[in-house]
Amino acid sequence: MARIVILGAGIAGNTAAMYSRSFSKKEDEIIVISPNSKWNWIPSNIWVGVGLMSPEDVTFELAPIYQKMGITYKQAKAVSIHPEGSTSNDRGYVTIEYTNSLKSGTVEEVSYDFLINATGPKLNFGATEGLGPEKNSYSVCTYGHAVEANNALQESIQRMKKGERQKIVIGTGHGNCTCQGAAFEYIFNVEYILKHNGVRDKADITWISNEYELGDFGIGGMHIKRGGYITHSKIFTESLFVERGLNWITRAHVQKVEKDKLFYENLDGEEKSVDFDFTMLLPPFSGVGLKAFNKNKEEITSNLFAPNSFMKVDADYTVKSYEEWKSSDWPTYYQNQSYKNIFAVGIAFAPPHAISKPMKSPKGTPIFPTPPRTGMPSGVMGREVARSITDMIRTGSDKPTRSASMSSMGAACIASAGAGLFDGTAVSMTMFPIIPDYDKYPTYGRDINYTFGEIGLAGHWIKHILHYVFMYKAKGNPFWKMIPE
Ligand SMILES: Cc1cc2nc3c(=O)[nH]c(=O)nc-3n(C[C@H](O)[C@H](O)[C@H](O)COP(=O)(O)OP(=O)(O)OC[C@H]3O[C@@H](n4cnc5c(N)ncnc54)[C@H](O)[C@@H]3O)c2cc1C
Repeated sequence: MARIVILGAGIAGNTAAMYSRSFSKKEDEIIVISPNSKWNWIPSNIWVGVGLMSPEDVTFELAPIYQKMGITYKQAKAVSIHPEGSTSNDRGYVTIEYTNSLKSGTVEEVSYDFLINATGPKLNFGATEGLGPEKNSYSVCTYGHAVEANNALQESIQRMKKGERQKIVIGTGHGNCTCQGAAFEYIFNVEYILKHNGVRDKADITWISNEYELGDFGIGGMHIKRGGYITHSKIFTESLFVERGLNWITRAHVQKVEKDKLFYENLDGEEKSVDFDFTMLLPPFSGVGLKAFNKNKEEITSNLFAPNSFMKVDADYTVKSYEEWKSSDWPTYYQNQSYKNIFAVGIAFAPPHAISKPMKSPKGTPIFPTPPRTGMPSGVMGREVARSITDMIRTGSDKPTRSASMSSMGAACIASAGAGLFDGTAVSMTMFPIIPDYDKYPTYGRDINYTFGEIGLAGHWIKHILHYVFMYKAKGNPFWKMIPE
């Protein structure tokens, strides 16, 4: 009998848990440890943030689903990893702290044969003074944050209905944020909702981000095929912004957010400010801060984790210049190299470097997006690592069998605004591969036949259908495995 312990029940962790259960033997034990009792389809938080969906539409309780599937669920957060054991039967174990109301604060040691770290990001609002829902800006990163953002947005709309002008600022709240696509989708939805309420003419809407140009999205931008022409995502995105009357500020590191004003430094070293009545700014991400200890209880956190707290896996972490980066630097198996029975998937693994070119202001402030790890690759990593582990259990080998490199994987992103069947529009983009490979695709870094962008109603339908399909799949309903990640 083998025990697979999975930390985190988000897109990567839940996928890993379901496939681990499905591929492993009945007597093998699958344990999921995650602090929130609910699963959240995070991409649809955008719609919660504009009042088009409720938290109930984007979440479900994990416990009954795991019970049905034969997965043990502990509502707890992992605190530390002890890969060499020394207690808990002297094998690898994690220390967890319960977060449910009955056992809150209780600490337990959970041993494992294989460990999958899928803890996602820490939303690091503390990196920028005044940033975050507890201070002066809103967020849509959790369904709770999205509810608060929508409440504030609706207040702004009521003011506009009374004839007041409102300044709306949406984007990234720090020079090293990622996930620009989420903020991009939110600004489109806010613009849509204002139009829908008949108050669009009463709002000045401004995008602020750490991207060098619009359309960078943390993937260094991309060339896309559109209507037979090859266009850069900068032109594509700028045209979308111009069509909607959205202003933009790029190359910006937000330094401080006050009640109605934010301060930023740009890549030219200028210090400027923007006034706002409503602002949604994404925080920078780091790892969740797990610690690691050896069998003598000495701290070995830096062996397992990069300085940003994300877990080191089979990537090439040698410090190199941007010109020397290779797509092969990116991990293939998501296996920790010191402890071969530990894996990290989704946002939890440490990327070897950014995808967008690193830049600094004359004052030395880094201002460039860090790499996104979106839903589709996170799910694929969860599935393939589950397959590798079940193969390793079967053969006794310490070599993973399944690869899921972002250098040989494509991704699709759909930013959709609107609610009705005919009253919506979406920007749909696909890319292959996610990590540009200039050896294989010298001109554009990506395969131009699989890298395209379109705008229209079809993408809006697809995004809505995907919402229901992924909620269905995540619950392990009949035929869930037939639905791709
Ligand atoms: C607003 C928004 C919109 C987005 N839209 C899209 C989109 O349209 N398309 C797309 O592909 N991607 C989108 N993304 C990105 C997508 O949500 C992420 O790629 C995905 O959630 C990453 O999955 P994950 O499992 O790594 O992390 P998460 O989904 O964040 O899951 C992490 C899990 O770990 C748990 N956890 C945290 N700390 C601990 C701990 N100490 N111990 C145990 N468990 C812990 C959390 O509770 C959670 O269950 C969006 C992101 C945001 C914020």
